[in-house]
Amino acid sequence: MQSSMTCVRLMKQHSSRLPALLRLSPRPVTTQIGSRRDYASLHRDQAYIGGAWVSGNDGNTYPVINPANGVEIGRIPDLGVAETEDAIKAAYQAFQVWRETTAKERSDICRKMFNLMMTNQEELAKIITAENGKPLAEAMGEITYGASFFEWFAEEGKRCYGDIVPTMTKSKRMLHMKQPVGVAAMITPWNFPNAMITRKLGAALAAGCTAVIKPAEDTPLSALALAAIAEEAGVPPGVVNVVTCSRSNVSQVGKHLCKSPLVAKISFTGSTAVGKILLEQSASTVKRASMELGGNAPFIVFDSASVDDAVAGAIASKFRGNGQTCVCANRLLVQDGVYDEFCGKLRDKISQLVVGDGMQPGVTQGPLINDRAAEKVEKHVNDAVSKGAQLIIGGKRHQLGRSFFEPTLLTDVPKDALVCSEETFGPLAPVIRFTTEEEALIMANSTDSGLASYFYSNDIGQIWRVAEKLEFGIVGINEGLVSSEAGAFTGIKQSGLGTEGSKYGINEYLDIKYACFGGI
Ligand code: ADP
Repeated sequence: MQSSMTCVRLMKQHSSRLPALLRLSPRPVTTQIGSRRDYASLHRDQAYIGGAWVSGNDGNTYPVINPANGVEIGRIPDLGVAETEDAIKAAYQAFQVWRETTAKERSDICRKMFNLMMTNQEELAKIITAENGKPLAEAMGEITYGASFFEWFAEEGKRCYGDIVPTMTKSKRMLHMKQPVGVAAMITPWNFPNAMITRKLGAALAAGCTAVIKPAEDTPLSALALAAIAEEAGVPPGVVNVVTCSRSNVSQVGKHLCKSPLVAKISFTGSTAVGKILLEQSASTVKRASMELGGNAPFIVFDSASVDDAVAGAIASKFRGNGQTCVCANRLLVQDGVYDEFCGKLRDKISQLVVGDGMQPGVTQGPLINDRAAEKVEKHVNDAVSKGAQLIIGGKRHQLGRSFFEPTLLTDVPKDALVCSEETFGPLAPVIRFTTEEEALIMANSTDSGLASYFYSNDIGQIWRVAEKLEFGIVGINEGLVSSEAGAFTGIKQSGLGTEGSKYGINEYLDIKYACFGGI
């Protein structure tokens, strides 16, 4: 059996054939400076290609901004097509060796990634809070969640069994084997700067694929910190690459990843609009595609529900990440019998939320990612109020700054309000009244999105009926927090293609090959 040292040596020999740009020696760790002191050992300000920290061909950079205070916390290479091609070639060459490693060797490396992430949990979390704004406690939770995918896929990778097929013809034997698809391009969002990468990367590495990661322009530091962790974990050069770029370069970088014949797979988490562009661009090379796109989650409270549980679930589901997750409740549908009680209790809980800089203890709601995000919340509030909704609490930008928004409760929201058909991605809880189960299901399902949904009920017949009829890939039943490495994260309708996490997630990175033996 090939040892992991042999594997690393092989990769190093291989990397000597990489283009000049990729042979730069790994860059030393950045020293402590200013407000970065809390996470300086994992702060990187270069991209990671072919096992080297690189600045890009023309030296262009762009700033990374802390959304809580507008302070620049780093300058990152603004790479283009040429460097993306370098990363693809590095990943393609590395794949030729990585695919030959044993499941056990890959599992060991994934396990090391898990251990290193947990050892560095606080540093990684502080990077998230600095570039994304979410409260530190939530960022710590994101690292636990993010690391769990390496732990999970370290195990799953060892269990990617094929089959021996029952014989159909006496002279033949048939079998199925699973093999890694190849280079996987990963385009990831800013709302979980760490976990949306690891949910893909854990599965890809365990399966034997290599990766080119294009992180969100707002949150590249978490991706680069992960590359630093990968380097320390002994991930061989070229197996993980991180290409950073600003919004102005993203469409050409994305297009190059989609059109490259050396890239076998595109895995994207982000908006439905961008997902559709990537699918179109990937058509010419018929790439494998996993798309985790936008949601419009209904959160239904039936008369039989425990109202206290439903309120706690609504706070967790609606206000986590300041409402900026694709599984956040977007519309709260509440039945007549518990409507007033639910709205009153929800108002009380919302008034206890604490807005501020996520680094401050006790803060539950950080800033929104940028001004554009705050504008959308403002638009949804104004639209609903203009159509007759009641503003109960919040409703405007917070005095702390333009990217902060007051946690908001609207009641009596009409069905034609924008918030019923569009994802708000912000701290706005709109409550819509309904009378019958059928009415609630029609409202809940009247969307092209089909990611997460939630409902609260203590009527067992209703629980079965509603769970079956909701047209969503994820259903939370008397539960507002559903994400887990062991559960299938999957959207239906226009919320996406494929599954992440769970025992199914690794299949996205595997081909099934059928081998037929004759002359037996
Ligand atoms: P949001 O509007 O919330 O930022 P996006 O879908 O625009 O969501 O962004 C998610 C990811 O997709 C980010 O990494 C972003 O840089 C990337 N992205 C945005 N536009 C494109 C594009 N045209 N091609 C490739 N990637 C893109």
